[in-house]
Amino acid sequence: MPENAFYPIGTAGIAWSKEEKQQWLKAATKSRSYLDDVVTKIQSLSSEHFDLIRYAALSIDPNSYPLFALKSQHWNKNKPVVLVTGGVHGYETSGVHGAIQFLQTSAERYSQDFNIVVLPCISPWGYEHIARWNPYTVDPNRSFVSNSPSQEAANAMDFVKDLEGEVLLHIDLHETTDTDESEFRPALSARDGEQYIAGAIPDGFYLVGDSDNKCVDFQNAIIEVVKQVTHIAPMDDKGEIIGSKAEAEGVIYYAVKQLGLCAGMTNAKYTTTTEVYPDSEHATADDCNNAQVVAIETALDYLLKNKP
Ligand SMILES: [Zn+2]
Repeated sequence: MPENAFYPIGTAGIAWSKEEKQQWLKAATKSRSYLDDVVTKIQSLSSEHFDLIRYAALSIDPNSYPLFALKSQHWNKNKPVVLVTGGVHGYETSGVHGAIQFLQTSAERYSQDFNIVVLPCISPWGYEHIARWNPYTVDPNRSFVSNSPSQEAANAMDFVKDLEGEVLLHIDLHETTDTDESEFRPALSARDGEQYIAGAIPDGFYLVGDSDNKCVDFQNAIIEVVKQVTHIAPMDDKGEIIGSKAEAEGVIYYAVKQLGLCAGMTNAKYTTTTEVYPDSEHATADDCNNAQVVAIETALDYLLKNKP
């Protein structure tokens, strides 16, 4: 049987069984510490303005992977709820650290007008192992569905559904990285026994809105401000960004609920997913974190300007 030419695990044309999935897990190496890099920062955020809530832990190692949310302490049912999620894909570093930076900087200011809840790192095993999947080769960001195959997604959904009040805005923080093409897409094709067809990684920031709830002005407003912090991904010669039609500068749309994406987990009036490009020669780690924070702030400013 021929091996996959594009990935070291599995056999060409055959989906992975339990054995190959275990082989993948065994090969995963811990490259950084969630407790040291993320949890210490999160714990220091608990303040008179934000409560720290440990909403669950990953069963693979509950002591190493507690899951945290920060929630406005003065929760007021007359204020709209704003949900910020990061680290659904744990390897997408600025999703995690951008969410934390928002809490360290402007979250308190916005909590005068909004009930804010932030889940900074939904997939901490992925954070440590620079992995898109969870330990069981499941992509959390295709798993925001009922009876989810991903604990990461299920835990986050359980926590969010119990929040008091309607979520008005949900912004989910991601990156699109060069490793998506060098590692994660080939791994996905290998896992599913499919042929890997190379794609291209967009050079710059873009947003993924919900094709069933586009919020066009809202998406465009975010792009206008983020472009002052980092460059926006150009469309390719087919007018697309990462295989989807660019409907405005730096904006594509997916059917987020149908695809089980995190941004579809509520019925929020406004949703978007940020995609920061960290591998650009022109973007530092700080630029990426700043782009995430500016995207959140601009989304909130938009709500303030367009109050119902
Ligand atoms: Zn992602």
